[in-house]
Amino acid sequence: MPAGDPLQEYRRKRVFDRTGEPAGDAPGSPAQRTDGEADPLFVIQKHAASRLHYDFRLEAGGVLKSWAVPKGPSLNPRDKRLAMATEDHPLDYARFEGTIAKGQYGAGTVIVWDIGTYRNIHEVGGRPVPMEACLAAGRVEIRLEGRKLRGGYALVRTAMPGGESWLLIKMKDAEARSEGDVLQDLPRSALSGRTLEEEAGTSGSGG
Ligand code: MN
Repeated sequence: MPAGDPLQEYRRKRVFDRTGEPAGDAPGSPAQRTDGEADPLFVIQKHAASRLHYDFRLEAGGVLKSWAVPKGPSLNPRDKRLAMATEDHPLDYARFEGTIAKGQYGAGTVIVWDIGTYRNIHEVGGRPVPMEACLAAGRVEIRLEGRKLRGGYALVRTAMPGGESWLLIKMKDAEARSEGDVLQDLPRSALSGRTLEEEAGTSGSGG
């Protein structure tokens, strides 16, 4: 990870007295997630910004590495879901739900669609590859233990120019499904039980 503040871009895009999003500088906030959990966090936030998308985030290197997935995750290994790399987010963003005010970056309502822990399962020649090396190489293989998503997923960087386009793909395992749509079947917040529309009604105008 390069020297310097990995959250610089995150902070530059936001005005923290106008958005309810965490500034990521609360003392002790990195410890907030631990609760004795040994495995790092993953979270998927459903975000009704100018275009609806799902933000896929993995705890690594003290921040949440982030991708915006326009079509959201799938349980079907045949689906290759475009995942655009976005700026690192602070760890305490993992539990953020609410409505980002109009005129602010990412204006619109956010719910935590799924949350849990993950394990890095990427190996080369039988040896585990550290997450930082996986991210640098553009190949992440993880096993999710979420409330909705479980099992193996791969994130693979594409050869498209810019280096920001990845694909999110369900691995073939016991948790894979070839039918149904988990996004339609389980639309509610994993934290509050609210739908995006219900959250918009309680936390703001809906952006
Ligand atoms: Mn977003």
